[in-house]
Amino acid sequence: MRDSINTHFEEAVRWRRELHRHPQPGWLEFYSTGFIARRLCEWGYDVRLGKDAVAPEQRVGLPEAAVLDAEYDRAVRDGIDEQFIAPAKGGLTGAVGILRGAEPGPTVGFRFDIDSLEITESADPSHRPAAEGFVSANPGYAHMCGHDAHTAMGLLLAAHFAENRDRLKGTVKLLFQPNEENLSGAQAMIANGLVDDLDYLFGVHVGICLKQTGQIGLNVFDWLAMSRFEVTFTGRAAHAAVLPNAGNNALLGACAAATNLYAIARHGAGASRVNVGVLRAGTTWNIIPDKAYLRMETRGVTNEINEYMILKAREVLEGAAKMYGLQLEVKPAASTISAVNSPELIELGARVAQSLPSVREVVPACSANGSEDICLMMQRVQQRGGKAMEILLGTPLGGGHHSTTFDLDETVIRNGAEFFAAMYDAVAGNRPVE
Ligand SMILES: [Zn+2]
Ligand SMILES: [Zn+2]
Repeated sequence: MRDSINTHFEEAVRWRRELHRHPQPGWLEFYSTGFIARRLCEWGYDVRLGKDAVAPEQRVGLPEAAVLDAEYDRAVRDGIDEQFIAPAKGGLTGAVGILRGAEPGPTVGFRFDIDSLEITESADPSHRPAAEGFVSANPGYAHMCGHDAHTAMGLLLAAHFAENRDRLKGTVKLLFQPNEENLSGAQAMIANGLVDDLDYLFGVHVGICLKQTGQIGLNVFDWLAMSRFEVTFTGRAAHAAVLPNAGNNALLGACAAATNLYAIARHGAGASRVNVGVLRAGTTWNIIPDKAYLRMETRGVTNEINEYMILKAREVLEGAAKMYGLQLEVKPAASTISAVNSPELIELGARVAQSLPSVREVVPACSANGSEDICLMMQRVQQRGGKAMEILLGTPLGGGHHSTTFDLDETVIRNGAEFFAAMYDAVAGNRPVE
């Protein structure tokens, strides 16, 4: 195998910085979709875009049409060739690249998330992207979770496979997934059957749990199952002074629900979470509020604990509605599950990692303590007899994830691509780089 990863590493850093400058959040990732698709096409990949990448009906939290159009136009203005994003118009972002090797072998998937956050990046000169001229140029959006580095890592890996195609055994499938942050991109790719043929699936997150370059986490656990809900209470409006007794106060119902959701008894078998992130109710001073709206989520360290939280949350919501004579509507939004890495891959990964000079430490156990929708893909692959693994890679951070000063050590881009290339060699029986 040729060592294309080191050859293209500096280029991959430039890709990361370019992606960093042009962030777009879930279902709006037109710039990165076009950026990826152009390269995959040039490198000879069979490329799937638009509804061949994501199932339209599975998209949760699709932005309004005006926003979808504005961000599409922005990507074109910023230099993306429309032929690569026309299929994504209207929020069908994401790209899949398939490369068949010269010889038969397993089908190996690699998933990289491409979405940014809805956050304004720091312009302070102490923040490196600002100092070095690659700070977000799209106000209100920024790559503050490292998905720009994940994307660059995926492209670096893609270049490596393309340059070694004549010696490749098996099939490579690169899944550049939209909308990880709001957890509906993975499901939209699963619904298209895109992981059903995978013998192996690999994914990555940088900087979680591990803060030093060269660290790798293979035994990763505590991925939290999570369920989100949009809740509406409907009561009856009435004059607040003349006839308050004729009203049914939706605001009070929502408040009772919110405080009691946090009072759900913890589960003895492991960690759980609950959060009410939005609560809107009422219209003005002298009207008994007839509408209240909240957004809430539950989490559990196992799927069973999250199920318990959902059950209890429903009881609280129903109880609050009853107390105040309200109608209740609970609409499920995005959700994900907990999953675990296949033990065989943890073992193989440790052996592979030890052979790589870039790996300084295989950290024996990493608690993720967050949620990731790759868990849905992992479960799907594992249920069908395949093996799956989400790794963590160490990097010092500027600020923490989802802060305005997030930044990373770009060496992690090379380290990840190198590890994945070596894992591919190990599972497909390729001769590794000499
Ligand atoms: Zn994030
Ligand atoms: Zn992330």
